[in-house]
Amino acid sequence: MKNLFIRKPDDMHIHLRRGEVLTNVLLFTSNIFTRAVVMGNLQKPIITAKNVISYRMEILKQAPKFKPIMSIMLVNSTTAEIVKNAYLAGAKALKLIPENTSINSTDGVSLIDLEKFYPVLKTAQELGMIFSGHWELNRHPLKEFIPELKREVAAISYLEKLIHDIPGLKIVVEHISTKEMIEFIKRAPKNVAATLTAHHAVLTIDDVMDKNGKIVNPYNYCKPVPKSDNDRKAVIEAMTSGNPKFFFGSDSAPHLIVKKESLKPPPGIFSAPVALPLLCQIFKTNKALDKLEKFASEFGAKFYGLELNKEKIEITRREWIVPSQHADIRIFMGGEKLSWSVV
Ligand SMILES: [Zn+2]
Repeated sequence: MKNLFIRKPDDMHIHLRRGEVLTNVLLFTSNIFTRAVVMGNLQKPIITAKNVISYRMEILKQAPKFKPIMSIMLVNSTTAEIVKNAYLAGAKALKLIPENTSINSTDGVSLIDLEKFYPVLKTAQELGMIFSGHWELNRHPLKEFIPELKREVAAISYLEKLIHDIPGLKIVVEHISTKEMIEFIKRAPKNVAATLTAHHAVLTIDDVMDKNGKIVNPYNYCKPVPKSDNDRKAVIEAMTSGNPKFFFGSDSAPHLIVKKESLKPPPGIFSAPVALPLLCQIFKTNKALDKLEKFASEFGAKFYGLELNKEKIEITRREWIVPSQHADIRIFMGGEKLSWSVV
């Protein structure tokens, strides 16, 4: 088995945090990926042009050659004017995390209220911005609670309505985790695509929770939660299919061990250190290594309207054991063996 050379990849969905955590995690991404779509659901969320500029500066100070693709969060105070200014400051994506479906999303716009934000979304469309969304519905309009495993499928009708109402909007449905959503994306028009993570190709709900919904492994806990084995297989099938609607977004989301070990562990898996070797392993196992470059390095850039990266990266056939942690953050698959390496 020879080494592999592919065009340098882009990570089309990542959480890099700020301050000390940013310092500790950034190089795992910037050494491998030319670009990454950086999510702004920080403790103080990225919602304006000013926020975009200062966050980008903080990232570039530590990794000057890295090309962060900036985003702003859609929150209840977002206006068309704010979106326009953020775009002019370099934001390429407008990000929806509906209220309380993930970390730092208490002010996120509910899917039920999305219509109120159509003027904002139309502005994003006119500017050519990507509407990047975490599509989960946690409560029905009458407020009944929806269990975690059903939230992604419950969001599909809202997504369908948006596609119908604003047909020109470029939509990326992030980190999809169910066969139903994958099938929906396949049928949807060309301006609708999805990112897939590596961890949803590896985990099922049994790796995260017991039958009563109690979290048994906080380090495998993420949103949306991994689903059944059939869903996991559908993720692999979509990722290795060569369909340009599916591209890589790690959703790597670091949390300190002390928080992960607490009574209410926050969702998020720190997968950046294993992202490319793990993808390589998944594609190899599924006899699709020839499709890896398109999935990790081409389809995302094309959908975002970006030039393809010119440099190549070598992925070496070399076994290594993933270290269990880095700077008080547990690494996904720590202690396990991977057969490919990028260092
Ligand atoms: Zn995310």
